[in-house]
Amino acid sequence: MMAKVVIIVMLLMRYGKGEYKFNIIKSLKKVFKMVRAVNSDFECLITGSPHNLHKHHVFGGAYRQKSERYKFYIYLIGELHNLTSEGVHFDREFDLALKRKHQQQFEYSHTREEFIAEFGMSYIMDDMLDYEDELKKFIDRKRAKLGIYI
Ligand SMILES: [Zn+2]
Repeated sequence: MMAKVVIIVMLLMRYGKGEYKFNIIKSLKKVFKMVRAVNSDFECLITGSPHNLHKHHVFGGAYRQKSERYKFYIYLIGELHNLTSEGVHFDREFDLALKRKHQQQFEYSHTREEFIAEFGMSYIMDDMLDYEDELKKFIDRKRAKLGIYI
């Protein structure tokens, strides 16, 4: 938040005089656009790209609306969503890694029974595993397989 304010003040000082004196609104629009781009959460989980993104609901089909409500979705480039065989819709391990991580996250504040009541079944195989960590490991393997180094 502080960074946003500093950037806005700096731009106002810069564009607030001379030929841009009457263009403050235009400048502000530009600033907000820049701030939004810098702060954007919308990037591909695997490649980090902000372009060509698809929104993927972790629990799809009948549970799509609930996924939306709980913010159980991620962004992926189209190729890693459903446009190629590397996409999460065709990669069961990827799909499960996401489901398990989000289920575990849900269960920090809810019971397993509540999860099953919401999403139909449990995906967790081993309660001792940290599925956020498992997802990170999966992402590393996927990146290595695709030759992505970020
Ligand atoms: Zn999807």
